Amino acid sequence: MKIFRRATDLQRYLSDLRTNNRSVGFVPTMGALHQGHLSLVERSRAENQVTVVSIFVNPTQFNNATDLKKYPRTPGKDIELLTTVGCEVVFLPTVEQVYPEDGSYQPAPIDFGQLDKVMEGAMRPGHFAGVANVVQRLLELTLPDRLYMGQKDYQQAAIVRAMLNKRGIDVELIVGKTVREPDGLAMSSRNIRLLEQHRKMAPELHQILQDVKNSILAGEAPDQVTARASDLLDAIPGFRVEYVAIFDGHTLQPISNIHQAKIVVTALAVWAGDVRLIDNIIISE
Ligand code: AMP
Repeated sequence: MKIFRRATDLQRYLSDLRTNNRSVGFVPTMGALHQGHLSLVERSRAENQVTVVSIFVNPTQFNNATDLKKYPRTPGKDIELLTTVGCEVVFLPTVEQVYPEDGSYQPAPIDFGQLDKVMEGAMRPGHFAGVANVVQRLLELTLPDRLYMGQKDYQQAAIVRAMLNKRGIDVELIVGKTVREPDGLAMSSRNIRLLEQHRKMAPELHQILQDVKNSILAGEAPDQVTARASDLLDAIPGFRVEYVAIFDGHTLQPISNIHQAKIVVTALAVWAGDVRLIDNIIISE
């Protein structure tokens, strides 16, 4: 496995590969890797000749300095895990490699319309502008054929799809299914920060999403279902709900009737102590 810390070295290596017509799959991550990330690497490995994984905790997408500081960083273990799944290339840049100090990287802001006005976008100002910029920058450095992201971050995948369209970037976006712990908790780098009593209750997030899905499919009104789900989550000691939403999977706008949309999704964000967890499932498609 090749490990690059400098953007120019990575670019040189990948351009040599491309002249030999090798297809490149790219998996951007913030490290503290788990099976969710590895599932994307495995899929990329199956569909491309070379897989590049980036590990970069992108400061511009954190709207909260404490969250950035506390974000888990386990580079040694990450490299070991990537070796076990046969990843060919790892890009481990410093902030200066991604955002040159001469300020030469200044993409014009993107208007995401209503996509970034809801859920994560509403709760984390500036978050998606940071995500879109770093993904664009990493794509410029790696020039992959395919980009792999997880359904776990449903809204993020929608924002990146919109960014690719608006910037006219010709890369295929592939969204992999959410990988869960045996008890249903969606795998996340942040899970290792959960207190024991919060970790025990965290599978309720997935359970409640399933209940939301069943209630909606049984014909209950979305407002009533989300209010009940929020109350149940807020009643768990140490948990505080930010949102429970039922929305059109393309526009991300709330819906009042599931027949309004081709894909209907339910998503939530909950604080468990000082750890913020998000999850979602598809209700119908
Ligand atoms: P992160 O390191 O949290 O920025 O995640 C990197 C990529 O892995 C993103 O595209 C995430 O959506 C994806 N990902 C994170 N957790 C999971 C999971 N449990 N299952 C599938 N994909 C995931």
